[in-house]
Amino acid sequence: MAEKFSFYNSLTRKVEEFVPLEPGKVSMYTCGPTVYHYAHIGNIRTYIMQDALVKALTYAGYEVKRVMNITDVGHLSSDADTGEDKMLAGAKREHKSVMEIAKFYTDAFFRDFEAVGNKMPDVIEPATNCIPEFIHMIEVLLQKGYAYQAGGNIYFDTSKLDDYYVFSSSVEKEELQIGVRDDVEEDINKKNKTDFVLWFTKSKFEDQALKWDSPWGVGYPGWHIECSCISMKHLGDRLDIHCGGVDNIFPHHTNEIAQSESYLGHDWCRYWFHSNHLNDRAGKMSKSKGAVLTVSVLMEKGYDPLVYRFFCLQSHYRKPLEFSFDVLDNTRATYNKLIKRVSELNARGEVSEEAKKEYMDRFREALSDDLNTSMAITILYDVLKADLDDATKLSIVESFDTVLSLDLIGHAKKLSEDASVDPELEKYVLEQIAKRAEAKKAKDFATADAIRNELLEKGVEIKDTREGVKWQLI
Ligand code: AMP
Ligand code: ZN
Repeated sequence: MAEKFSFYNSLTRKVEEFVPLEPGKVSMYTCGPTVYHYAHIGNIRTYIMQDALVKALTYAGYEVKRVMNITDVGHLSSDADTGEDKMLAGAKREHKSVMEIAKFYTDAFFRDFEAVGNKMPDVIEPATNCIPEFIHMIEVLLQKGYAYQAGGNIYFDTSKLDDYYVFSSSVEKEELQIGVRDDVEEDINKKNKTDFVLWFTKSKFEDQALKWDSPWGVGYPGWHIECSCISMKHLGDRLDIHCGGVDNIFPHHTNEIAQSESYLGHDWCRYWFHSNHLNDRAGKMSKSKGAVLTVSVLMEKGYDPLVYRFFCLQSHYRKPLEFSFDVLDNTRATYNKLIKRVSELNARGEVSEEAKKEYMDRFREALSDDLNTSMAITILYDVLKADLDDATKLSIVESFDTVLSLDLIGHAKKLSEDASVDPELEKYVLEQIAKRAEAKKAKDFATADAIRNELLEKGVEIKDTREGVKWQLI
């Protein structure tokens, strides 16, 4: 049976006990990346904290089904309906087709996503796969009187709702109304300033690359419709948890709720999990700012991607987090010390199941306290300090790492192996690796292969990885 689990619900603005629609099961939807550029480490912070939520729920005994979309059409350069399509802008920038851009950045995204220890979502669906579903939802919204056609586009009519700003307090509602009024690029087709586009046939950008036939003419979907449709396609008419970054709350999630509940005629999603931003000294990290710091770049600079995960897990997901290389260097030192301590544990001996349960309960309770990952890490240190035998400690570390995903045991094993390597052999291997790199640079592949084979004969296997050449004794 699944255990009690609580976290902050942005809809009710309270930490609430999670009660799923179906006992023991969780349906979860995550807004995926807009694939016109690399995902920066800020985006990846959001996905690390969502991964921690998935794994914490799993640790508490739930079976989680997670769906993620890929935004490959419709997201304009402003989150409101103004500006150019981000995908088209990316394609123009790189002189490629929109689909080439989408494929390239989707692959890059999932490489970084997995490198930081995230579990792949159960379903990944690009928006361009679901055009018939979008058209169907828009047709129903038109039939029910929640949408209207103007100037060639289809708009959602927000005045039909009693409460459009569902996430906001009354003060915030006023601020938002002022903000929306001040929007400089006014669309004269809209009946209300908060109305949003469901389907575009008329855009200022006539060279829109991806277009589909629809009952309203050839065009393309608005951004918000994709998440409602993709979620319902895979998770049904009622959803347990919807995740995103805080910037998604308005207008994206507000609009998702408006159209979904109008379409369905009943409540849609009960729990909304929003994580806060990663900032650098210049402010919020943003893809549109140009040069982006990615997980791959961190790896090229020699950081283990799990050090970045550790950095994220040490702070609470609802607080903004400031990134700097100084802090990352400190985190790396702490991570390395942690690995060293785990590597010193001796696996032999009997595991005390009673002690293990006690710590597992504490760990689960910390996570159930609004996903308090830093407290969960403190409990990991408590285990290492505790008066327990090594086998018990190791077994608890292994269990905690199903949530933390810091590869504590794997890295510790590697450290012990490295420590047992004869320093003379290590020196020789590193020299040979350098020689091989030179040979490869000079396109002398025969020498490069000969070096690899010679090392293999000595029981040393070398592998070319994205983090550089790795070697191990076989
Ligand atoms: P995007 O690819 O721009 O649609 O963003 C992907 C995810 O990253 C969304 O859930 C955003 O809310 C989130 N996000 C955007 N900027 C940041 C940031 N600076 N820090 C953390 N998450 C972010
Ligand atoms: Zn979304």
